[in-house]
Amino acid sequence: MSSSLLEFRNLTKRFGGVTALDGFSMQLNRGEILGLIGPNGSGKTTSFNLLTGIYPTSDGSIHFDGRDVTNLSARKVYEAGIVRTFQRSRLCLPLSIYDNIMIGDTARLNGGLWSNLVRRRQFRTQFDETFEKARSLVATFSGDLADRMFEPVGSLPMIERRRIEICRALISDPRLLLLDEPSAGMTHDETDQLMSDILDVRARGDGLSIIIVEHEMGVIERITDRCVVLSYGRKIAEGTYAEVASDAEVQNAYLGV
Ligand code: ADP
Repeated sequence: MSSSLLEFRNLTKRFGGVTALDGFSMQLNRGEILGLIGPNGSGKTTSFNLLTGIYPTSDGSIHFDGRDVTNLSARKVYEAGIVRTFQRSRLCLPLSIYDNIMIGDTARLNGGLWSNLVRRRQFRTQFDETFEKARSLVATFSGDLADRMFEPVGSLPMIERRRIEICRALISDPRLLLLDEPSAGMTHDETDQLMSDILDVRARGDGLSIIIVEHEMGVIERITDRCVVLSYGRKIAEGTYAEVASDAEVQNAYLGV
């Protein structure tokens, strides 16, 4: 089995006259945490959007686990094992922790999300099984969330909501987790705690790979194995955080010096 899980080959995206990504090639290894960084407007979100089937590519291709997944629908990408969290929380605040996590299990749901949320309560065995899976995911994190599975998420602080979003992404046993600015809206201490959580998730040893887009360079330095730097839609550097941080072109892109 090749160590490479994901590969972009010359990925290009044009929006009218704007070239958001311009011949972007990169590779992600199995079990790796990769930081995708670059100034605002450099193409980070567009990379996630092409990878998750939100937008069609203009050129180039995406290969995942030996398969060409270029321009698959968002659902097919999800079924292939690629999941994503968003910068802005997408939890349903009146619903419980458990229900919010089960929303991430939509691939296994037939007959629609809401009827299934009700039905799962009626069929005790299935419910026990899925509940235990959700609870054990939540128990990965520090704190007492696992004892509060039926509390509405609207009453929880930001860090707990982020943890639930990660559990929701992980409930489908993905191979690749995409994290879009997980530190957004959190304090420094909360961010620090969440980074420990993410390292714990990786340490479970099931080969999960992670790509993280993040503005907080302390976060990138702490948790990534490797970084890829974009500027104006092009890759300008890659390597360890220390390597890219000392690269003159990267410093120029960030500071304009
Ligand atoms: P980043 O995530 O690095 O801040 P983006 O991928 O959001 O950058 O954007 C890269 C470029 O593509 C920017 O110039 C942005 O304005 C443009 N862009 C992104 N999405 C769209 C869109 N849906 N329509 C038009 N232009 C877009």
